[in-house]
Amino acid sequence: MNTNNSKINILNMTIGELSALLAGIGEPSYRAEQIFTWLHKGVDIGGMSNLSKKLREYLFENAYVDKLKIAQKLTSSDGTVKYVFELGDDELIESVFMRYNHGTSLCLSSQVGCRMGCKFCASTLHGLKRNLEPSEMLGQILAAQKDTGERVDGLVLMGVGEPLDNYANVVKFLRLVNCEQGLNIGYRHISLSTCGLVEKIKQLANEDMAITLSVSLHASDDKERAALMPSANKWSLGELLDACVYYFKKTGRRISFEYTLIDGVNDSVQHAERLARLLPKTMPCHVNLIPVNKIAERTYNKSPNVIQFNSTLNRLGINSTVRRSLGADINASCGQLRNVMK
Ligand code: SAH
Repeated sequence: MNTNNSKINILNMTIGELSALLAGIGEPSYRAEQIFTWLHKGVDIGGMSNLSKKLREYLFENAYVDKLKIAQKLTSSDGTVKYVFELGDDELIESVFMRYNHGTSLCLSSQVGCRMGCKFCASTLHGLKRNLEPSEMLGQILAAQKDTGERVDGLVLMGVGEPLDNYANVVKFLRLVNCEQGLNIGYRHISLSTCGLVEKIKQLANEDMAITLSVSLHASDDKERAALMPSANKWSLGELLDACVYYFKKTGRRISFEYTLIDGVNDSVQHAERLARLLPKTMPCHVNLIPVNKIAERTYNKSPNVIQFNSTLNRLGINSTVRRSLGADINASCGQLRNVMK
């Protein structure tokens, strides 16, 4: 977001939208593709060397390219990098760059803050400030690539914010990053995590965009889930799982369920057995167990039963793994990213 409202944010635009803009000033449509490719390489208007001087001057006067500034960078002993980025209106968001054997991955924020209110998560402590623009989600990738000198191979929308609460901007962003003239990140390399906004999950299923859906469950009973996640007051687990089955049927993608294990809250053998009974038998799924990460404002503790919980699920035929925690020493793990206050 930029305070200069009279200029056009061209990093937000599709090739089609850029073409329409250029048609209005008599420029051929192939220029739109050239501009798009430059933008997604992180190049400023001044560096778009195959454009005419006249077109560059037009862009200087009428357009701007959203840029994120690195306000802070922390590198973990495991090599994970956490960035605090400053946006055009001085708001701060966080992203996490991770290296795996199979490639690199960036955990992105989709909102400044979050209004979902999950009890164990730091991102929601100050509520929602605003949605991020597609250009600001792209900007996180471009800034991380520039700083690390490495390509971002995959994306996880699991940073600050509830991506499906910023639906239109997130879907536009996903189409932009998937474009072969730009970053060309395949939908199969993108995961989106949601606390379970049922209507939006169904809408996403119809977008013809086969990304992996991760659904935050954290409980296998409506009452227990609502005590942890206010969004569960709106939709029951039955409705949520029906939406997941619909997503699988439309996209063919296996759903991943996230289950944060909290000592004495949701981590007993009985909880694991109930979870195994709950999961739909009509589709393949995977359970990702996350030992709860400490946040200063809450007293939730890591469960000592992680291995036992995992093996109970496996014994009952449920595919599950324990998520490897990266960046815990720099507060970069799940639920530790926050809406940093200036
Ligand atoms: N809004 C999305 C993305 C959130 S972060 C969602 O709710 O899914 C990704 C995952 O981390 C979610 O499953 C979230 O519930 C989980 N999480 C949040 N706080 C956590 C914490 N303190 N410890 C472990 N996992 C946490």
